Amino acid sequence: MLSPPPRWRALPSLDRLLRQPAFAALADEFGRASLLETLRNLLAEYRAALVPGAPVPDEGTLAEAARERLQARMRPSLRPVFNLTGTVLHTNLGRALYPEAAIAAATAAMARPVNLEYDLGEGRRGERDVHVEAWLVRLTGAEAALVVNNNAAAVYLALNALAAGREVVVSRGELIEIGGSFRIPDIMASAGCTLREVGTTNRTHPRDYEGAIGERTAAVMKVHASNYAIQGFTCAVPPRELAALAHARGVPLVEDLGCGTLVDLEAYGVAHEPTAAEAVAAGADLVTFSGDKLLGGPQCGIVVGRREWIDRLRNHPMKRALRLDKVRLAALEAVLRLYADPQRLPQALPTLRLLTRTRDEIRMQAERLLAALPASLLQGADAAAADCASQVGSGALPVESLPSAALRLVPRAGGSLNALADSLRALPVPVLGRLHDNALLLDLRCLEPVREAEFLAQLAQVPAP
Ligand SMILES: *Cc1c(COP(=O)(O)O)cnc(C)c1O
Repeated sequence: MLSPPPRWRALPSLDRLLRQPAFAALADEFGRASLLETLRNLLAEYRAALVPGAPVPDEGTLAEAARERLQARMRPSLRPVFNLTGTVLHTNLGRALYPEAAIAAATAAMARPVNLEYDLGEGRRGERDVHVEAWLVRLTGAEAALVVNNNAAAVYLALNALAAGREVVVSRGELIEIGGSFRIPDIMASAGCTLREVGTTNRTHPRDYEGAIGERTAAVMKVHASNYAIQGFTCAVPPRELAALAHARGVPLVEDLGCGTLVDLEAYGVAHEPTAAEAVAAGADLVTFSGDKLLGGPQCGIVVGRREWIDRLRNHPMKRALRLDKVRLAALEAVLRLYADPQRLPQALPTLRLLTRTRDEIRMQAERLLAALPASLLQGADAAAADCASQVGSGALPVESLPSAALRLVPRAGGSLNALADSLRALPVPVLGRLHDNALLLDLRCLEPVREAEFLAQLAQVPAP
């Protein structure tokens, strides 16, 4: 066997390293197994890179390198950020924030056994959706309700349970794509239904539906155009008329509401978005919507409607695969309970609290923060308070904007906008704004006053240029 070249031998052995106090401390902090793996990799890399005459790393250098790697590995991948993009329900940033009551309920469900599928009155097996069904029925006026993983799952389950192997009639103006992979024609195909398109992009009439409903029709579907608006020479069949038309031909109306708010947002000064109760009252047999959009709860898909159809979904084999876990059920129940007191909703529900903040309030916050910006940040960028417009996001009220205010950062001579945005994104709690008009806008709508100190502490860590 060849003996290792002399410089390799100069590298310390693992055994010797592990006896040094610096490495013992690392083993203590990160665990012996992770430290061993990291050191093996490091030593292998040094061996591969060592060239005659190059210095052999000393133990201090090795310990430092190992610490950096272990820290990087152990840093959580999913972490809090500051959402200053101006989009309140940002799908990429996790949409709605849980209210305190939901956090408490979810935490309790995580840590302790719960009566998830256990009827405490009868002392026997129960149903997991009962914890939210009574609330959903009360809040929407529907006969029955169930919940699944998200709204995409709700639509899939409804279509598959009602219409597999048959036709579903949909207006051409409603063949939506929601960012990513949710597209009505694709969901329809994967649920085993045949899409029967009627009307045109901008206009669909009752006679279009009537002409398409026949023997093979299992349902008529209405999809809320949540992330776009068709304006100008347009015409759609109102939900009430569409329901009557479908029922006259003996088929159910399924409505995908998307955002599906449970309260009239107009009462809180936000634009009107169709409520689940309105869809039910108009005659839809099944209504599906998301739990983590305007409703302001955990990710889930809610289906409300006629008992006959809800039961069919409940007994479908896919329901089991799409069901909610105890943590989200606990959170959802707590959120729905908040709706019992609509007056206090804007304080209790973070989503509504953020949506109803006024420009005056946010502008004052901008001025306050402007005066407190750290010098290191101001060495690299000019800052000003500026008016801007936020949006609801997640396909809710796509053409409405919410008057808001921002910190407007412009890099000083020599600096680039992208470098500035990069440095804010690289902070321990990343700060995410949006680029607009040659500036980085930090829209303060979603910066609640309780987080201001933490926000400023992050900005103080932006390296001066
Ligand atoms: C958002 C949305 C969906 C998808 O809902 P998820 O909860 O994200 O699965 C489906 N349909 C419409 C109309 C939507 O707005």
